[in-house]
Amino acid sequence: MEVIHPRNLEEALAAVADGMTPLAGGTDLMVEVNYGQKRPERVVALRRLADIADFSPTRIGAGVRWRRIEKEGPRALAQAARTVGSPQIRNAGTIGGNVATASPAGDGLPFLAAVDASIELTSGSGSRLLRWDEYFVGVKQTARRSDELVTAIVLADDLPERQEFAKVGVRNAMVISTVCCVVTRREDGATTVALGSVAPTPMRARRAEEMISSERSPSEATLAEFARLVSEEVAPITDHRSTEEYRRHAAGVLARRLLERCLRREAA
Ligand SMILES: Cc1cc2nc3c(=O)[nH]c(=O)nc-3n(C[C@H](O)[C@H](O)[C@H](O)COP(=O)(O)OP(=O)(O)OC[C@H]3O[C@@H](n4cnc5c(N)ncnc54)[C@H](O)[C@@H]3O)c2cc1C
Repeated sequence: MEVIHPRNLEEALAAVADGMTPLAGGTDLMVEVNYGQKRPERVVALRRLADIADFSPTRIGAGVRWRRIEKEGPRALAQAARTVGSPQIRNAGTIGGNVATASPAGDGLPFLAAVDASIELTSGSGSRLLRWDEYFVGVKQTARRSDELVTAIVLADDLPERQEFAKVGVRNAMVISTVCCVVTRREDGATTVALGSVAPTPMRARRAEEMISSERSPSEATLAEFARLVSEEVAPITDHRSTEEYRRHAAGVLARRLLERCLRREAA
């Protein structure tokens, strides 16, 4: 395998335009290589590329690792970061790799959906911004062209005051999500609910959002209805990790729990 280490973004973009496979932390790509699912012959290593390692409240470079997001990221993304693999995985794995892989179970992805983030894609001819729902198009499928790199995640400058992430898996740590969820809530009650592992791409539970956003102090019955709507809206499948029925149930329970956390923080 030929590996090149570009000195800057320009060199990296020239390499991908020439057909080289991008490699960031390698925690997804090398697993696929080990399982014989991919055999890249020419690889461009992005690890030392300072151009995509920038970090600000409105922009997270694709090369930023989970270890940093865990400490400095927006609340719900930091919570998600803390659940990615083990410390070793978080020291190597990047948000850009998570976004480029676009697994339905990617723990970083519901946050992007919850806050309507955009993905910055760059090629030799310039950059373009795609909203999360334009970028993720299917299971491990995105609108990224082969001559483009994911260069950053772009966030609004007024993220919701309250935001919570949690995931359900078959054990407590080092686990791929059976369901993962982010709930955000603003002062005026506007609520978003985003979920992963329950559809081909990250998704929003729009009917549940609409119903709960007009409720300032939801009753027990309203919370139950909120959970029911989330369970109804998700579109999970049965696979080796879980069943459709369990995922539906867990999605409702998880979303309600996270909403209640937001409401408790609102009252505090
Ligand atoms: C033991 C283990 C546990 C894990 N646990 C979790 C978990 O709990 N939650 C979770 O979400 N994930 C988990 N993962 C998956 C993985 O760690 C994450 O998806 C991680 O964010 C991938 O980032 P990376 O930098 O390692 O990507 P890489 O493996 O380097 O790349 C992944 C893919 O993206 C492409 N790519 C990388 N960077 C770019 C870029 N800037 N532009 C375009 N394409 C690019 C590569 O060509 C490759 O196809 C786990 C993996 C392992 C091995």
